[in-house]
Amino acid sequence: SLPVDQVSKRVLLAAPRGYCAGVDRAVVTVEKALDLYGPPIYVRKEIVHNKHVVRTLEKRGAIFVDQTDEVPEGATVIFSAHGVSPAVHREAAALQLKTIDATCPLVTKVHREAVRFASDDYDILLIGHEGHEEVEGTAGEAPDHIVLVQNPDEVDQVEVRDPDKVVWLSQTTLSVDETMETVRRLREKFPKLQDPPSDDICYATQNRQVAVKQMAAECDLMIVVGSQNSSNSVRLVEVALDHGARAGHLVDYADEIDEAWLDGVSTVGVTSGASVPELLVRDVLQWLADRGFEDVKAITAAEESLMFSLPNEIRRDLKARD
Ligand code: SF4
Repeated sequence: SLPVDQVSKRVLLAAPRGYCAGVDRAVVTVEKALDLYGPPIYVRKEIVHNKHVVRTLEKRGAIFVDQTDEVPEGATVIFSAHGVSPAVHREAAALQLKTIDATCPLVTKVHREAVRFASDDYDILLIGHEGHEEVEGTAGEAPDHIVLVQNPDEVDQVEVRDPDKVVWLSQTTLSVDETMETVRRLREKFPKLQDPPSDDICYATQNRQVAVKQMAAECDLMIVVGSQNSSNSVRLVEVALDHGARAGHLVDYADEIDEAWLDGVSTVGVTSGASVPELLVRDVLQWLADRGFEDVKAITAAEESLMFSLPNEIRRDLKARD
């Protein structure tokens, strides 16, 4: 084989990548709340699962807390894009907090499905990862009706009250392929299993995975920009490796890239999770360009134009100010 410096070096850049409509809305919600009400603004959990976003908002006066009772009585608290259970709304009301709900509307949609199927007395098989904030929020809507299924291998242990009355729902940020495998096995076990009324895995998760699948087989290395606790970002690394990328890594910042990863590499794929600001991708592209990877080709799997309006409280107060 040719010495590395004679191999053509190129970058395949996935599109879509980065911010989805729900993340954009949640981040702008915190920024507008800081503008409107002044710091400190409390945020329950990370507003979105990205280290850089959280650090930047902290510098502007946002205070991130893990639990509602860490917020001083009467203060303003924002609920993160991942959603919260009804119990959290009750805690906030008891502390007389002013709440602003930045839950992504596509997560709220799953909450409504859970409430509806629970009220019809279904057992709900919720496909998702234990301990993830979104799963805690969704499960909290119908704790007595939800059975968590984390992956295809857990299907064997799933038990329900009435196998004729079961539906599956899912976390919004899972691997589409693995989820379909879990559903296939669930349906083998419960032939009457109902599907959700519409896709729970959101458009942004799906599109980012489709783009990665289109380029993975050509990539000697896939760099996914995103944080370790970002479910959709972690999935992008897995999808890349499943579809032929020879190596894959998740990095928050360009300076986490190890020079050794480039040994013998001619094609590098780059993408980013739904909570990742584009400037972090720009930094990675610059880091690669500095090492001879200047030729960048976009691989476009879909066009996205969805936008969500800001939470009502923010819209009302922005209007009142103007
Ligand atoms: Fe909403 Fe999907 Fe973005 Fe999550 S990843 S905030 S569900 S659009």
